Amino acid sequence: MMEQYIEIKASNPGVLLFYRMGDFYELFFEDAVEASRALGITLTKRGQHLGQDIPMCGVPVHAADDYLEKLIALGFRVAVCEQMEDPAEAKKRGSKSVVRRDVVRLVTPGTLTEEKLLSPADSNYLLALARVRGGDQDLGLAWIDISTGVFRVAESNATRVLADIFRIDPREVIVADTLMQDGELKPVFDILGRLVAPQPAVLFDSASAEGRLTRYFSVKTLEGFGNFSRAELAAASAAVAYVEKTQVSERPPLSLPERQATSSTLFIDAATRANLELVRTLSGQRDGSLLKAMDRTVTGGGARLLFERLMSPLTEPGPIAERQDALAWLLSDSFLNENLRSLLKRAPDMPRALSRLALDRAGPRDLAAIRQGLSVSAEVAGLLRGAVLPDELHRAFTDLECLPPALDHLLSSMLADELPLLKRDGGFLREGADDGLDEARALRDQSRRVIAGLQLQYAEETGVKSLKIKHNNVLGYFIEVTASNAGPLTEGEAKARFIHRQSMANAMRFTTTELADLESRIANAAGEALTIELAAFERMRLAVVAEAEAIKKAARALAVIDVASGLAVLAEEQGYCRPLVDDSRMFSIVAGRHPVVEQALRRQAESPFIANDCSLSPSSPGGHGAIWMLTGPNMGGKSTFLRQNALIAIMAQMGSFVPAGSAHIGVVDRLFSRVGASDDLARGRSTFMVEMVETAAILNQASDRSLVILDEIGRGTATFDGLSIAWATVEHLHEVNRCRALFATHFHELTALSEKLARLANVTMRVKEWQGEVVFLHEVGPGAADRSYGIQVARLAGLPPAVVARARDVLTMLEDADRKNPATQLIDDLPLFQASQRREPVASAAASAVEEALRGLDIDDMTPKQALDALYDLKKRLGKG
Ligand code: ATP
Repeated sequence: MMEQYIEIKASNPGVLLFYRMGDFYELFFEDAVEASRALGITLTKRGQHLGQDIPMCGVPVHAADDYLEKLIALGFRVAVCEQMEDPAEAKKRGSKSVVRRDVVRLVTPGTLTEEKLLSPADSNYLLALARVRGGDQDLGLAWIDISTGVFRVAESNATRVLADIFRIDPREVIVADTLMQDGELKPVFDILGRLVAPQPAVLFDSASAEGRLTRYFSVKTLEGFGNFSRAELAAASAAVAYVEKTQVSERPPLSLPERQATSSTLFIDAATRANLELVRTLSGQRDGSLLKAMDRTVTGGGARLLFERLMSPLTEPGPIAERQDALAWLLSDSFLNENLRSLLKRAPDMPRALSRLALDRAGPRDLAAIRQGLSVSAEVAGLLRGAVLPDELHRAFTDLECLPPALDHLLSSMLADELPLLKRDGGFLREGADDGLDEARALRDQSRRVIAGLQLQYAEETGVKSLKIKHNNVLGYFIEVTASNAGPLTEGEAKARFIHRQSMANAMRFTTTELADLESRIANAAGEALTIELAAFERMRLAVVAEAEAIKKAARALAVIDVASGLAVLAEEQGYCRPLVDDSRMFSIVAGRHPVVEQALRRQAESPFIANDCSLSPSSPGGHGAIWMLTGPNMGGKSTFLRQNALIAIMAQMGSFVPAGSAHIGVVDRLFSRVGASDDLARGRSTFMVEMVETAAILNQASDRSLVILDEIGRGTATFDGLSIAWATVEHLHEVNRCRALFATHFHELTALSEKLARLANVTMRVKEWQGEVVFLHEVGPGAADRSYGIQVARLAGLPPAVVARARDVLTMLEDADRKNPATQLIDDLPLFQASQRREPVASAAASAVEEALRGLDIDDMTPKQALDALYDLKKRLGKG
């Protein structure tokens, strides 16, 4: 057996092997050590290998899902190895022969289908990353959720790939093992850590990619799917190959690969996504994220679609307006919307049930989920029928109408109301569904009645009133009496009739030929009933799988309606407005609020959130965006204000209404935010280094369509270094990136820049001083703050009074010194920032030739004409140099 184990283990490297032995999955060697530690189960040993004890641990088969769940959550991959024949079969080959076993499935984080292992509100993506050298988009991404059949591909490159992967939020990433050491990609893989599962490079072979895909989808050519790059094809084919590998012989119902154009979604880099806490907070919680604050969906499919839309806001005004139209329509009829929602609440997770059915991993409740889904779909369609629907809802309605009524009829007429979890338990077909089944069931039930009669009869005959006929899986039916009552069954004539089976501590068990006879009749009837039920299950399963496309479309339609309806509820409940999103460069928010903080303050019944305006619009049509320089006290609300405007842009572009009185936003192509301090010591980066890496990404990538949020740049180093960096950064944003930007800082010196930079305006968080205390008004108004009230805030935070007093003294001294020689004076002395000149320094050889010539000139002896000629000459030499 160990030989077999070692062989199977060798062909499944890098995964834990669950080796089936009877009612247990056993793990051996290193696997056993790792699993026992991870699962907290006892490590034992069994036999020896090369003179050493073999460590072993095991999990019972019936509870295997729970253990798998834990292991998968910890990032393990598990190969499930089953017994492929009855042990009795193996015995026929000789008493020492080993039961045939094989791996029937690889359970990996990105290829799950079990309800227990999946979270209803999250997609479960497997992502393949492939590189085919050439061009600036040389990476291909393909992501698949086998639990719903979603299959998408996109192009990428080394600069943006991390942002793309975070947008998709996969559970597992596969790459060719040969790519793991790629200089450009290695840092990406380092960040992804355990998510990455290197695979043999052949899986990513772009030459055979098209062949594999056409075979999987049984089509002649891929032309109908769209124009894929070679890298995209390689990634798509690797993803499919991995799915085939992990599912061994089964094929999940994947949709045809759908291409996502890079420019169609708002680019949000990984740091920004994390900083803005879009779907989880910096500490990894869902509570406190924007998603949690926005989610009013009532179905798993709706929650997953909302997540996806929040992760990938759009960049084209047309599709954004379509989503807004659907929301607005539902908002205008809250009675209808409420009805829709109470229907949707009953909608089960159809795509996931469908996927389990297609993979032949389903139980009766999955069929019931489809039945229920079909009936909810029909009712939802009924509610929308006859209305003049906006485009998005109209498309959803059409998809719901396309569902075949025959399938609903088939499932409803066959499935019972109460269903067992496993099909092998039987009892899921309703009475009247099949004549043969009804007959077999009648026989079985009748026999059960006969047994009850037999018990009475034996009790009378033997005079043992407490005699019982019982059943267990080992003995089947048996007669049980207490040990003290056994006499009448073991003496005289009775002795021949009651055949002894088992003696327990205080009971004895018997059988009779009559009982054995009855038992086999019951078993036959039950066996027959189960055979009929399983055949019917298979018929229903195939009928469902044949309609996979229509079911998936309907499920998607329900999700679309759920998202629009949930966002309408949110808009109503929170008083959101419909933003105008167009192709301009506007960014004008009137009375904007922070969607998460506002709800939190309301929940805590604190004073209400103070709304604030933000205007970064160009002063003339076609002009460039403005920058707001925001100063104000600590705790004044600067970070909140910065974030709320970024979040409003995201919400607007995902098609939601926004927390504002009114909003006009010209689509943002890229959103950057550098907020808060965090270090990344694991990767050898200090807080300041992280800050600078993120700032560099912004300055290098932001376009004049981008929105940039910068909070306290340069705080992590010496004051003058920080101030200088912040200073140069603002100038670069203004002169080179020309984007819309919000810049919060405690370097009050920077506010002087507004005198030089035309599109820079100073705003400040207003405070009141009252009896020596600071009162935060949380209002943004024009102007600059002259102080940060840091010491007051420190006192509120509980710094010892002696430290506060001493800090006040030091501050007074420092302020006195600064007044004599203020840094703001510099603004008049420094020449204006010129990015182009800095980028191309003049070559030193040319400079000295020009210098020579310049030195040789006697200006006092020249006419104005000669001076001008000399100037032209100098300029010409400079050009040559
Ligand atoms: P620091 O400079 O110390 O980082 P900050 O100016 O960035 O501070 P925030 O962290 O944005 O301040 O806000 C401080 C607190 O004020 C927040 O916890 C929030 O609850 C509250 N707050 C911020 N803005 C508002 C607002 N507009 N209305 C009501 N409360 C607000």
